[in-house]
Amino acid sequence: MDNQAQNIDSKNNERVANLKKELLDQDFRDSVGTISKEGKRNYIFPQKPFGKLYNLRSYFSYFYLVLFFTLPFIKIEGEPMFLFNVLERKFIFFGQVFWPQDFFIFAIGLLTFLVFVILFTVAFGRLFCGWACPQTIFMEMVFRKIEYWIEGDANQQRKLKAMPWNAEKIRKRVTKIIAFFLVSFLIANFFLGYIIGIDRVGLMIQEGAIVHFGVFSSLVIFTFIFFFVYYWFREQVCLIVCPYGRLQGVLLDRNSIVVAYDYVRGEPRGKLSDTIERKGDCINCSACVRVCPTGIDIRNGTQLECVNCTACIDACDEIMEHIEKPTGLIRYASENNIAKKEKTTYTWRLKLYTGVLLLLLSFLAVLLITRDDVSARVLRTPGQMYQKLPDGKISNLYNIKLANKTRKIIHIDLKLENLDGEIKMINQVDVPKESYYQTSFFVILRGTTIKKRKTEIKIGLYEDGQRIETVSAIFIAPSL
Ligand code: SF4
Ligand code: SF4
Repeated sequence: MDNQAQNIDSKNNERVANLKKELLDQDFRDSVGTISKEGKRNYIFPQKPFGKLYNLRSYFSYFYLVLFFTLPFIKIEGEPMFLFNVLERKFIFFGQVFWPQDFFIFAIGLLTFLVFVILFTVAFGRLFCGWACPQTIFMEMVFRKIEYWIEGDANQQRKLKAMPWNAEKIRKRVTKIIAFFLVSFLIANFFLGYIIGIDRVGLMIQEGAIVHFGVFSSLVIFTFIFFFVYYWFREQVCLIVCPYGRLQGVLLDRNSIVVAYDYVRGEPRGKLSDTIERKGDCINCSACVRVCPTGIDIRNGTQLECVNCTACIDACDEIMEHIEKPTGLIRYASENNIAKKEKTTYTWRLKLYTGVLLLLLSFLAVLLITRDDVSARVLRTPGQMYQKLPDGKISNLYNIKLANKTRKIIHIDLKLENLDGEIKMINQVDVPKESYYQTSFFVILRGTTIKKRKTEIKIGLYEDGQRIETVSAIFIAPSL
């Protein structure tokens, strides 16, 4: 019985090895499907997808689109919930304002996000690309749908491209350009809303482009970029520009779950009408290739171009139902699921990344919880040494720069913490909300207090009698 099982196993392994060799012998990896032999762009006309996964992805995309168009209007204490104002270096996440002073938190946050992306990709491949990436959502669920509506399905689009410039072609192309441009303009408005705030975009609309020329120029530039991307550049963003796609080669392993063709079950492929004895389930109908928005044949194995959009799964499932075979010839599966019939496991690599992620998340949580509302920097005023006062005391002049990260005006009092002395302010310290404030102050010490030429002083920052921060500085006195 054992011998029999071993024989079956070795035959199975041999078959898998032969199939892999056959697949690898093909030259599909030597070229990119969207570039012709002459180096020109092969424009793709993917067939309109349909099926369970496509419907599910559509529902997800409606949810994301609603979020995208409503989030800029949601405010917390008068400020947007999310803002990525790179120009003014102001960032708001879930209503929390982050400043350049929070760079360390920002860097740890980015690192945590990066480890999360790595962990997620090692486990599930490009699941994000197919189900949540804004590029895929806008391309496949907005612009592609408009295109199908105006120009029809893939074959009609090909015919339209090939036909001479007659009234029908001009009408359809002009309609498409106008529709794409208007949607690009709409997206650009909201995109800008995430950068400078939707109120400023609204102000520009009310008061006119001339008054807000900078905002208007950005809007025009973004509109043209979106139009260019969705009208012409399309899948090239995922193939050429996106760094995440390029990372797949190093992140995926034999246990990563990706959209995959079950070559063990599908090969050798052949038409239904073929008279040769066929063992594989793939009937070589090319339905999976026709729907692919990046123009690849998933039967060649995992490829850089695959954005895991699942269109080929739906297409193949429909064929399988039609020929009364089990669905899932193309499905979410790992190489080990297919080749060795192994179950998906929580590998040591995933455990390691999970450990690192948990550590980083804990560190980030501590940083966020202990984050200061006010940050201060005290420096001795340049060019000033010390002043001898008539009563024998010594004074030093300092500059203080404060950042108020809260949404209220903060009044700050300064107190000397480690020495007996006095602080004399040049101005009152009222730091406007979400702003920087700079002023100067004197520290005055009695000669008897000073024991050496350079003395470290600690200055406490108090708000409503509560110490909120302590900063250090050096006090200089005449040589003793
Ligand atoms: S191979 Fe399938 S999942 Fe990958 S991009 Fe093409 S249709 Fe989408
Ligand atoms: S859709 Fe399925 S049966 Fe048709 S070619 Fe693709 S894998 Fe083979």
